[in-house]
Amino acid sequence: MERVECVVVGAGVIGLAVARRLARAGCDVVVTEAAAGIGTGISSRNSEVIHGGMYYPSDSLRARLCVTGGRALYAYCAGRGIPHRRLGKLIVATDPAQEAGLAAIQRQGRINGVTDLVRLGTDEVRVLEPEVKCVAALFSPATGIVDSHALMLALRGDAESHGAVLAFNSPVLGGRVSDHGLSVTVGGTDPITLGCRMLVNAAGLSAQTVAAGFDGVPAATIPRQVLAKGSYFALTGGAAPFGRLVYPIPPEGGLGIHVTLDLGGQVRFGPDVEWTDHLDYRVDPRRAGSFYGAIRRYWPGLPDGALSPAYAGIRPKLSGPGQPAADFVIQGPADHGVPGLVNLYGIESPGLTASLAIADHVAELLVPDPDHRGAGPT
Ligand SMILES: Cc1cc2nc3c(=O)[nH]c(=O)nc-3n(C[C@H](O)[C@H](O)[C@H](O)COP(=O)(O)OP(=O)(O)OC[C@H]3O[C@@H](n4cnc5c(N)ncnc54)[C@H](O)[C@@H]3O)c2cc1C
Repeated sequence: MERVECVVVGAGVIGLAVARRLARAGCDVVVTEAAAGIGTGISSRNSEVIHGGMYYPSDSLRARLCVTGGRALYAYCAGRGIPHRRLGKLIVATDPAQEAGLAAIQRQGRINGVTDLVRLGTDEVRVLEPEVKCVAALFSPATGIVDSHALMLALRGDAESHGAVLAFNSPVLGGRVSDHGLSVTVGGTDPITLGCRMLVNAAGLSAQTVAAGFDGVPAATIPRQVLAKGSYFALTGGAAPFGRLVYPIPPEGGLGIHVTLDLGGQVRFGPDVEWTDHLDYRVDPRRAGSFYGAIRRYWPGLPDGALSPAYAGIRPKLSGPGQPAADFVIQGPADHGVPGLVNLYGIESPGLTASLAIADHVAELLVPDPDHRGAGPT
């Protein structure tokens, strides 16, 4: 059996950030990825927004890792020349009954350490975004966008330059605790059993399946996964009517059908929330009807026929319809009893924003003093 110090399962943004983090700390890392390349899962089907961190409950991992991860991400992007832009974002109340929602978000933001949110009235919003109709808004200057593929390429490059090896078409089929640590069975074109001291399960939508295939992980520690599809529609024809991101007050399950802008200036709207039990990334054009209604509440000028189906992503949720939003679940040996193993579950939004902070968190669970092993933190 070949041996390596650490195996990371999954080359999405989380697996790559973890691989980079551990490789920089001096660990010998192999990343096993079922697909033929990096970032073909959730990490390439999202809004690419660097979130501020104001929505999430106090002391949650999502709040903490989003706020620290967002700052780290801006610094990393600047240092590595990764395309990104701090555009700012408006959260809009479209009728007076929603104003309390804005106040609640601002309060929660302060608790989470997001102290730069500014309350704006209609006239101030009109100066910033003349096309937006609302009765009041919150402005988040620190919210921005990032090229998620450039980010993943940079993380991969850093990991590899510190010795990490990526193996594609290499699905992890199972694992167990052995006399000498852990071992994983990898299938694909070159099946192999790898022995390792540390294993990080960052398999995104398959995290529960990977954990369930690992002998010794108590079934009771594996949370139930609920899938929530989010579809996007692109705005066709004409110049972008907005210069900033525009979000409604969040409904259940997501952040609402918002305006996202990519770095090329293309405007998209989404994602909506469609509870599902299977992976199907096709966008149903009939969903456009509800998009027109939702968007016109804050952009009455949306022309008929301007929306065309774009793409969809699927959220790996841990709570279903009608339940309070669940936190990220990142389980180390103290949680499941398997030395050297970390399982990451429910890494939905803001996982992209939080990726560098999640990697630090995982490193702390695995390597008691990671900064003394090598190049130090992010
Ligand atoms: C609709 C939507 C919008 C979002 N918008 C934002 C946003 O604007 N900002 C933000 O911060 N976050 C956002 N997110 C969240 C963010 O995209 C995710 O948190 C993040 O991409 C998760 O990355 P991951 O590496 O955990 O998963 P993935 O990118 O899915 O990576 C997991 C990898 O594991 C591989 N894999 C699976 N099974 C195996 C196996 N058995 N063996 C080996 N490899 C395996 C998969 O092929 C995949 O490459 C959004 C998510 C969605 C769904």
